[in-house]
Amino acid sequence: MFKSSPLKKLIRGYFKFKTQYYQPSFLNELMQTLAKEGQKPKIMIIGCCDSRVDPNTLFNCSPGQLFTVRNVANLVPPCDPSPHHHSTSSALEFAVQALHVEHIIILGHSQCGGIKALLNMPDSTLTNPSDNGFIYNWMKIAKEAKSKALIERKGKSRATQARFCEEEALKISLSNLKTFPWIAKKVTSGALSLHAWRFDLVTGNLQHFVEKTNRFEDVTKHISNI
Ligand SMILES: [Zn+2]
Repeated sequence: MFKSSPLKKLIRGYFKFKTQYYQPSFLNELMQTLAKEGQKPKIMIIGCCDSRVDPNTLFNCSPGQLFTVRNVANLVPPCDPSPHHHSTSSALEFAVQALHVEHIIILGHSQCGGIKALLNMPDSTLTNPSDNGFIYNWMKIAKEAKSKALIERKGKSRATQARFCEEEALKISLSNLKTFPWIAKKVTSGALSLHAWRFDLVTGNLQHFVEKTNRFEDVTKHISNI
């Protein structure tokens, strides 16, 4: 049935997982507890769909540790009560209102295809549908990041503009989180903290956004503040 080599590799991985997690061991106990008692993750991650930045791999997490939603370019839309299919917003609602997570981390990354699409997006797509209609429409959430990148990094390389745009898009998403009234309320009461992190695929470095300095700084320098 699974003739394709990538699928075979996937199933081999599944067998390995099942041997590790469903044979008598502390991992098996973990799975049985999670099955019986349900999930109680303290952290929600909003990550990119990109296959290179899987949060569970990146942070070496076990099942039950992270509540994750992944979308193109790890964007958070502003709160919009219209009756559309709000995937990310519904995941946020469940994480905050039902699971009572204590932290929301928006995890951006270098070489993001979504950000590249945003930078290459023709201005005409703001009014006209195109072949990339879903992606372009989604990426419009961060259109101010693109404008700012093209102005403040004018004449610089596309890679420099993309990096700036990635960081600005993270700041927009961070700000959009606060437009959800139940998030704003919990942030004010101190029950919830919001974070924007950026992973560099080339160096492996992890940075986080420091509001005071308005800069992304290495997490290891601020570990006690996280
Ligand atoms: Zn990405």
